[in-house]
Amino acid sequence: MPQDTKILSVADKRKLAQQLLSQRKAQAIKNMEEVELPDYTRYTYDMFMFGSSPEPSEIEHFDDWVQATLDDHTYTFEVPRLQAQLPENDIYRASNEKIHVVNLSSYNYLGYGYHPEVIAAAKAALDVYGLGAASSPVASGTFGLHKELEQRLVEFFGLPGRGVSLFSSGYGVNSGTISAYMKQGGHIVMDRSAHMSILEGAQLSKCTPHYFRHNDVDHLEEILKGISQAGETRVLVCVEGVYSADGDYSKVGRIVEVAKRYGAKILVDEAHSMLLVGPHGRGVCAEQGVLEEIDLLVMTFSKAFGGVGGALFAPRKTTQYINWYAKCRMFSCALDPAVTGGILKSLELASGADGDERRQRLHVNAEFLRNQLRGQVNIGTSESWIVPVIYGPEKYTLPLSDFVQRSGLDTSVMQFPAVGKNESRMRLFVTSEHTTEQLRRAAEIILCAAEKYKFALNHQ
Ligand code: PMP
Repeated sequence: MPQDTKILSVADKRKLAQQLLSQRKAQAIKNMEEVELPDYTRYTYDMFMFGSSPEPSEIEHFDDWVQATLDDHTYTFEVPRLQAQLPENDIYRASNEKIHVVNLSSYNYLGYGYHPEVIAAAKAALDVYGLGAASSPVASGTFGLHKELEQRLVEFFGLPGRGVSLFSSGYGVNSGTISAYMKQGGHIVMDRSAHMSILEGAQLSKCTPHYFRHNDVDHLEEILKGISQAGETRVLVCVEGVYSADGDYSKVGRIVEVAKRYGAKILVDEAHSMLLVGPHGRGVCAEQGVLEEIDLLVMTFSKAFGGVGGALFAPRKTTQYINWYAKCRMFSCALDPAVTGGILKSLELASGADGDERRQRLHVNAEFLRNQLRGQVNIGTSESWIVPVIYGPEKYTLPLSDFVQRSGLDTSVMQFPAVGKNESRMRLFVTSEHTTEQLRRAAEIILCAAEKYKFALNHQ
């Protein structure tokens, strides 16, 4: 070892890595300035968000923008598919072109969305209960099947005194629960990368919002300290299990410890981690040994469960309260029967040997894809089955995603306001059902796009 080589502390290493990352990001943005782009790429989502004229002129302007992208054949959103979310799929672009793609755009992480036993269970429920619940769950929309799912979820987590609130969307679990649990005058402290449903729940609650730097426990503590000095009040800390934008794990173990020290309550949204990690798939909180200390555990059925809807897992008296006071639950129809039947089957499969096997494949697949891309494009802090490829400015979104789709890969594009400006990304959702060949093909397309659009890390 050379004489002047210092042994770096973990904090120094992290600082160095962050510096390196922002240098690379700046370089990638500079490189991209050289790519020639059509005029419509100058517009960003927020430009059509506001308007104060008597007529809603922003709707016309947005339509002009959509038409321009359609005319240029680069509109890659809301592209229909005529099959389930399989690892490979055909998509149909507006110009009636059929494109065959490797599908890394759906969060059907364990393939349960099209599993024959799940489909059979959904069909059986449909036969008994019909198409819809046709009532709010608090009124007459609760079926035996809903009660069974609540019971199975409580057994799955194995904690006494807990209950489950079922919702017809995962989004509603966050927005409904947070706005019912938190009252005006309280404080909500969110990770900067938290999902829109958490942000909207906070807005609805009329509490004071605070944001801590992504996964930065020291910054969280600083904010909590400031709030506690201003007197006693209700405080809720909101984080995700695995972050949907970044694909990294929450430091939930340390976050719980800090939150509890300041008397704050904690909500963990395990939308992208439930059934995927931890003992028998019980999630990140179970894996980090803090499941029992979580006040509000949120899960969605639209990801690994392969369906739609979501649930809150919390002390039974809390779920009983939320059942009545979460407005989007009280004033909306109950979870539909076929989906409920299907979810019961996914849960049964996922919590047993079938789930263990799929989780194992998922983790191997995710690592394989990350290894194909790491060091060549910016995959941020990803350490899971969500692999973001961060290309930066919004103006590249349409031409880039068009190029990628036409090359045979479907991704999930994310840009402002879902992430910060100049942090646009194509997210690759790996599933247990992808083959190595499909993942290799996907990586080749990404690397080819990175060369063309000049965001490859080695591009000078
Ligand atoms: N939480 C997170 C972290 C999410 O990513 C999403 C949606 N992708 C939701 C909540 C909302 O879930 P759903 O789509 O099931 O309504």
